[in-house]
Amino acid sequence: MNNAWVVIIVFLIMVIIAQVVFYRRLKAKLRQAEASTARFNRLLALTRKKLAEVQTRRKKLLAASTQALVIVENDYSISSANKMAKRLFGPVDKTITLTQWTRQHQLRELVDQTLQNQKVPPIYLSRDEKMLEVHARAIRSHTPDGRKVPVAVALAIHDVTELHRLTRARRDFVANISHELRSPVASLQLLVDTLRSGALEDPQMAPNLLDKMVAQLDTLNQLAQELLDLSLIESGQSPLRMSAFLLRDIAQAQIEHLLPQAHRKNLALSNEIDPDLRALVDETMIGRVITNLIHNGIKFTESGSVTISAQKLNGRLIPHEKSREDWVLVSVADTGVGIPPDESTRIFERFYKVDRARSRKQSGTGLGLSIARHIVEGHGGRIWAESNGKTGSIFYFTLPPDE
Ligand code: ADP
Repeated sequence: MNNAWVVIIVFLIMVIIAQVVFYRRLKAKLRQAEASTARFNRLLALTRKKLAEVQTRRKKLLAASTQALVIVENDYSISSANKMAKRLFGPVDKTITLTQWTRQHQLRELVDQTLQNQKVPPIYLSRDEKMLEVHARAIRSHTPDGRKVPVAVALAIHDVTELHRLTRARRDFVANISHELRSPVASLQLLVDTLRSGALEDPQMAPNLLDKMVAQLDTLNQLAQELLDLSLIESGQSPLRMSAFLLRDIAQAQIEHLLPQAHRKNLALSNEIDPDLRALVDETMIGRVITNLIHNGIKFTESGSVTISAQKLNGRLIPHEKSREDWVLVSVADTGVGIPPDESTRIFERFYKVDRARSRKQSGTGLGLSIARHIVEGHGGRIWAESNGKTGSIFYFTLPPDE
C-alpha cells in the first residue's frame, strides 16, 4: 500500500469521526430544541389559560357592575355593552350604531368630543323617568408612527334618579320652610309696626296686639319644634322605647289637653277605646300621633264631634295591611270638612296642606301628619285617611299587640 492510500484512508476515517461528532451534537441540539419547544408550549398554554381567566373575570366584573358600561368604536358601532347597559337601552349587535341603539343624540356628541381629545364633563339624560349621568373616557391606541390616538370611547352610565330626587326634595324642603316662616314673620312685623305707630299707648289695643304676637310666636315655635322632631325621627336619633300600654289611658291624657279647644268650638270629644286594650308602643310618641290626629279633627271641624276608638283586628283584613290579625286598629273620626280622596295620601307628605287658603285660617305647619307617619311606621304599623271629601274624615293607624 503506497502512501497515497494511507492518506486517503486516514482522511476517510477523520471524515467519519467528524460526521459522528457532528451528528451527536446535532442530536443534542435537537433534544434541546425539543425541550425548549415543549417549555414554550407549556408557557403558551398557561398564558392562554390566564388570558381566558382574565377575560372571564373582566366579563363577570362588567356583568356585576351596577353602572351601565359601553364601548363605542370611532364608527359609532358598539363593541361591548354590559348587562346594565342592555337593560337600559335593549339588546345590541354589531350592526347597530350608538344613536340607533340609545335614541339619545347627546351621547353621539359626547363621543365625538371625546374622540377629538377633549376633556368632557359628564352629561345628564332623562330616560323612562330615570335620570342618568354619563361619563366618557377615550380609549387610545398606538399608530405605526408611534403616536397615541383615540380609537374608541368608554361610556360609564350611572342611574342618579334617587340622588336627583333627594336634591329636589331638599330644595323643596328649604323653599317650604321659607314659605312657612314668611307668614308669621310678616305678621309679627306688622304687629310691631302697629304698636310702634301709637297702638302701644292704647290701653285697649296693646294687649290685643300682644296676644296676636304671642299666637304668631307660638306658630314659629311649633314649626321649629316640629322640624327638630322630624329631623330626629327621620335620622333615627329618636329611638322608640316600646312597652305594653293601655291605649285608652294614653288617649285620655291627650284628650285632657285638647278639651278646652274642643269646648271653644262646641265639639264633643269622646274616647271610645276599650279600657283593657293594650298595645306595644312608645307611650310619648303614640301620644303625639293621637294628639296630632285629634287636634286636626278639632281644627277642621266646625260642628259635631271628634271620636277616638280602637279594637283588635282579630283576623279582619283591612286595606293596606296584610295578615296582621292580632294587631290593634286605632281610628280618629271627625264630622269636619273632609279630605278630597285624591289628596288623602299626599297629606302625609312634609308641608302638604289641602287647599292652602282654607288651611291658612288654621294654624299649622303641614308637618304633623308626616311626623305621625314616621312614628307609626317606626312601630311597624301603617297610617291612612279615609273621607268622601265632603263630610268628615277618619284617620286609621295600626299598632303591634302587647304579646
Ligand atoms: P297641619 O299642621 O297643617 O295640620 P298636618 O300634617 O297635621 O299639618 O296636616 C296636613 C293637612 O292635612 C292639613 O293642612 C289639612 O289640609 C289636612 N288635614 C289633616 N287632618 C285633617 C282633618 N281631620 N280634616 C280635614 N283635613 C285634614
